[in-house]
Amino acid sequence: MAKGRVGLYQIQGETLTRTHTACPKCGPGVFLAEHQDRRSCGKCGYTEGKTDTASRPSKAKAPKAS
Ligand SMILES: [Zn+2]
Repeated sequence: MAKGRVGLYQIQGETLTRTHTACPKCGPGVFLAEHQDRRSCGKCGYTEGKTDTASRPSKAKAPKAS
């Protein structure tokens, strides 16, 4: 929670990549909070699941196959 509001945008070459998604309910001024497998809006409570696994930290527990 003490991360601050850094990294809303990432500049990659000439492309402006948005690292945060705007809330579809609140509008482009409100960004969704990033979680491991979902994004959520702190204002209206909107939640959506993530489909991209590229940015997911690799600390997921692998179930032991026995
Ligand atoms: Zn919202």
